[in-house]
Amino acid sequence: MSVNAEKPRSNHSGTQSLFKNPILEALSRTHIAVPISIYLISSAGLGWYAFTHTALQKGMIGGLLVSGLIVFTLVEYATHRGIFHMEPTTTLKSRLQYIFHGIHHDFPKDQTRLAMPPALAILIGLALFSITFMGLGEAAYAFFPGFLSGYAGYLFVHFIVHAYKPPRNVFKWLWINHAIHHYKNDTLNYGVSSPLWDYIFKTYSSKG
Ligand SMILES: [Zn+2]
Ligand SMILES: [Zn+2]
Repeated sequence: MSVNAEKPRSNHSGTQSLFKNPILEALSRTHIAVPISIYLISSAGLGWYAFTHTALQKGMIGGLLVSGLIVFTLVEYATHRGIFHMEPTTTLKSRLQYIFHGIHHDFPKDQTRLAMPPALAILIGLALFSITFMGLGEAAYAFFPGFLSGYAGYLFVHFIVHAYKPPRNVFKWLWINHAIHHYKNDTLNYGVSSPLWDYIFKTYSSKG
């Protein structure tokens, strides 16, 4: 595996190959609609199963869906802060950090690298669902769609803030929030879909 780690960080337009192997390179890219569709369809299927094939009450299902969504926002924050921005103390960490996220900071407008490749995401998703099912039993059928919907929402927000100009309405703050992380201070505003955990862990700034 060969990685073109380019330092220092900058804000290039265009794209850059990540792997010399053409299959790996192709697998490292995706159109954003593919993963979002997969997660929403999977969420709908699991949610339907929770309502029709489990003993869970409607209120319980609703609570589990919301819990899954909130837990996703924490995972989003922790992954971005702890893994995507981990200290590159070893060559391996440096390479992984670049593949996972460094390349996105170098080429933030490359729309094919705004989501984890679906083939990898499906494997991770199946593993996460298995772990959730072992921990929660059939409640996983309601919790996991909340989690997956959160991921789809995060991907959508992350895509639009990079692909489109900010709107002239209240949602403009989503663009400002993530632009501060990219262009002013990458130790702030790790939350893309919500500032909740940045507030709690004191990494939020409205100005950078
Ligand atoms: Zn970004
Ligand atoms: Zn980042």
